[in-house]
Amino acid sequence: MTTHLCPVCHYPGLADPPWSEAGPSYEICPSCGYEFGVTDDDLGVTPESWRRLWIDRGHPWSSTAPPPPGWDGTRQLRR
Ligand SMILES: [Zn+2]
Repeated sequence: MTTHLCPVCHYPGLADPPWSEAGPSYEICPSCGYEFGVTDDDLGVTPESWRRLWIDRGHPWSSTAPPPPGWDGTRQLRR
């Protein structure tokens, strides 16, 4: 299965490309909580500013589903 990188937090496990010719994926990144097509288009928050906010909050895992084993937000951001 091909997965895609979150442009906000570098989480590598998105199911769909965040943006494509068909438009945004409306997927919510389970890592940083960014919702492509909503956080950007509806709320007007850029990936860059969301990333800063997420880091300021201590870059927590965002989803109610558990993170992958060994998930580490700090290490993920360095990629
Ligand atoms: Zn993300």
